[in-house]
Amino acid sequence: MPPRPREKQPLPSLPTGPLNECDDIVTDKIPQDTYEPDDRPIDIVWRNVVVFVILHSVALYGLYLCFISAMWTTTIYGILLYQMSAFGITGGAHRLWAHRSYKAKWPLKVILLICQTLAHQNSVIEWSRDHRVHHKFQETDADPHNAKRGFFFSHMGWLLCKKHQEVKNKGKGVDMSDLYAEPLLRLQHKYFLVLMPIVCFVLPTIIPMLLWNETFMNAYCVNILRYICALHATWLVNSAAHMWGSKPYDKFINPVENRLVSFFAIGEGWHNYHHTFPWDYKAAEFGRINLSLTIINLFAKIGWAYDLKTVSKEMIEKRVTRTGDGSHEIWGWGDKDQTKENYESAVIYNKKDE
Ligand SMILES: [Zn+2]
Ligand SMILES: [Zn+2]
Repeated sequence: MPPRPREKQPLPSLPTGPLNECDDIVTDKIPQDTYEPDDRPIDIVWRNVVVFVILHSVALYGLYLCFISAMWTTTIYGILLYQMSAFGITGGAHRLWAHRSYKAKWPLKVILLICQTLAHQNSVIEWSRDHRVHHKFQETDADPHNAKRGFFFSHMGWLLCKKHQEVKNKGKGVDMSDLYAEPLLRLQHKYFLVLMPIVCFVLPTIIPMLLWNETFMNAYCVNILRYICALHATWLVNSAAHMWGSKPYDKFINPVENRLVSFFAIGEGWHNYHHTFPWDYKAAEFGRINLSLTIINLFAKIGWAYDLKTVSKEMIEKRVTRTGDGSHEIWGWGDKDQTKENYESAVIYNKKDE
């Protein structure tokens, strides 16, 4: 598909919205009270509350079983499924489909779809719509998990209440035609309510029972624990990675760099970078904790992942200087952020005059 011309999206208001390279910074002050969420009454969806309470209770019991009766193979298997499902979200729904930051051949797409269904965070089409709206209208009422409503809302509260009308309105305007054009995604979307229970709950429970004679209770509860842990890892990107950390690339937005989130969400916690350059398949600079990147690069080696889009070092440096909060680490000798004092006081052995 030929690249589509960049849609000129009216920015919510400079400088709180995502800045593009051509935008002028109108002030150096970071506005604190722009786009405060409106005070609409929260319409709780009690069915979801009950489902999540039950799932969390079973997950806690699964954790208990890991220590008292589950076989160690079941626990290792649970950790493996956690990583697989996380990659279905990070490498699949997020970097491949929501952001189109790289391309994949069909065998990789099938693997990613299985992993993404294993993660059960709705179909890829639904996940990507929410995520594109999140990026385009971040931290306004149109953002499905607006972090301005607090940690709990952006973490999981947004799934326990009805969507804000603005989310629905703006969501309709987001182009999803590229994803609807993919037969595999249409198939997953159409049969999600059949595929999801099989891939996310039935098979992961049956496999340990058949292969190493695990009990139903252990296999079932440890799998629910795996599912809930992966959900929280993803949710941390929307909550913690919008709150606690540095902003080396753009201090005018709330997403931050958070190492701990990157560890649990296999590379997705470098969120200030990601919101600044959402088309970069690395979702971070090189050299960060980023298991998703390692896996995508492995697939790239066999040709299944290709057209990997990234941002040049020059562009990053330009952006760090222009809008960063000054926390960007220096890359070494001669970096523009190296202080004059450090530069002048360095001891240089075997120095030759050139
Ligand atoms: Zn975000
Ligand atoms: Zn994203």
